[in-house]
Amino acid sequence: MGFKREDLGNHKCCVCHQGVAHGGGITFYRLSVERFMLDVQGIRQTAGLEMHFGGGQAGAVLANIMGADPDIAQPLTDKPITLFMCEDCACMKPKPLALLVEEACPTDDSNDEAKDHTG
Ligand SMILES: [Zn+2]
Repeated sequence: MGFKREDLGNHKCCVCHQGVAHGGGITFYRLSVERFMLDVQGIRQTAGLEMHFGGGQAGAVLANIMGADPDIAQPLTDKPITLFMCEDCACMKPKPLALLVEEACPTDDSNDEAKDHTG
């Protein structure tokens, strides 16, 4: 899906915070980012069932057929986080992805006391 003029004007580069076409650039990136956390209970349940069925490839196949096949990782956000990045920043050295996501969604880790808001 493309962008209308008024839509694109609302999006800034997540690295340099300028317009995505600043400096005469004609290309930019739209990034869809999802962060997941492994589900230890789901992993244990899956591994236990595989062992129950003898382990190895056969155990994994049988566990997949006979078990509940639980998710072993869960998304940490309801929907993907959308980031925009200008061509210059995409070609240079961007900030770490985790920092870009945090800046885009500052309330996600509001309970994290170790977070440093000073940048
Ligand atoms: Zn940029």
